[in-house]
Amino acid sequence: VPPAPHDASGERVPIRDLAGLAPPPRPARRWTPRRVVATPAALDHPHGRRIVGRVEALGIEVERLRANRLTGLRGETERETYARAKSTLAIVVSPPSRRRLQPIAPSADWRVDLAEGCPAHCQYCYLAGSLSGPPVTRVYADLDEILDGLAEYAGRGTVTSRDARRAEEGTTFEASCYTDPLALEHLTGSWRRAVEHFAGWDAPVQLRWTTKYDDVGTFVGLAHAGRTRVRFSVNCLPVSTRFEGGTSPVPARLAALRRLALDGYPVGLTIAPIIALPDWRTHYGELLDLVAAAVDGVPGLDLTAELITHRFTPGSREVLLGWYPRTRLEMDETRRSRKHGKFGAVKFVYPRETMTELRSWFTAELTARVPACRILYWT
Ligand code: SF4
Repeated sequence: VPPAPHDASGERVPIRDLAGLAPPPRPARRWTPRRVVATPAALDHPHGRRIVGRVEALGIEVERLRANRLTGLRGETERETYARAKSTLAIVVSPPSRRRLQPIAPSADWRVDLAEGCPAHCQYCYLAGSLSGPPVTRVYADLDEILDGLAEYAGRGTVTSRDARRAEEGTTFEASCYTDPLALEHLTGSWRRAVEHFAGWDAPVQLRWTTKYDDVGTFVGLAHAGRTRVRFSVNCLPVSTRFEGGTSPVPARLAALRRLALDGYPVGLTIAPIIALPDWRTHYGELLDLVAAAVDGVPGLDLTAELITHRFTPGSREVLLGWYPRTRLEMDETRRSRKHGKFGAVKFVYPRETMTELRSWFTAELTARVPACRILYWT
């Protein structure tokens, strides 16, 4: 029997719990914001009022703002601003720019945002440097309009619908670029409505998101028509326990993946960020064994993997070091290769030899340990 993994609190989680059909042995992790505000514009939308109702039903007070601008988010120091913003939920209307969808290769054809910001504290968070201002979590009240607006993008694939291996997915929409859906679903109900919207859509389409949470109870039994692929972002224990504060433990995420797979959802793994820490083969081997146990015996399993190595930009490094000044995450430019992204932006990735070693190991070991898993891409 391999050693039992630890969850974020240091408790041992028996591997056999992953393979059982029972729901996870403890309640799913749910975020309780310290402050919730709603703008007047948000309250004009039925979904904005629905969110307010849900939040208040959870016993959390909602401040009705007089204006649509969010204020009072900054503290005396950078740390205080971070802490204040990260514990605030704002119910707002999405900015008009978000309603014009952008292609989002290689994950999906289009990016659709139902929220922006995330209450977790990952020390490598890719949102750092992508979003401006204090990292407050904003959830969008104009959900119905956002979902209705997707119709014009169906059949206009930019990436996945041109990939023969993914043709059956139809036009794909990624709904977790700037947030973590399962961190917020209990407060908004937005992603559940999106699942039902996609299930009833008269065109080949797929909704996708990735998450580090395990709160899937309200999705089990929902009419999803196999049109939503939920991927769980997972990592080896030294990475998840050190660097992913506020998220659900990896074994709980894998138990949630199993629950959805048993309910007929296509599911997936986002293994990210892959970090070349000492002994990485051993640690990631243990992760893949946990995955194999979690999907063992699932009838008709449809499982994909997206493999993303750790990278950072000068901007994200600066923001992350401001948020997590004592982080032990390696972000040493001298140990990385420079890569130029879209529009010439610089990012630091692992050198070519490390990349090649990682890639061949992951490809071989995933195939050997989880043969049902299809690798969608490596980056
Ligand atoms: Fe960032 Fe994702 Fe972690 Fe949230 S769960 S803090 S979005 S990396």
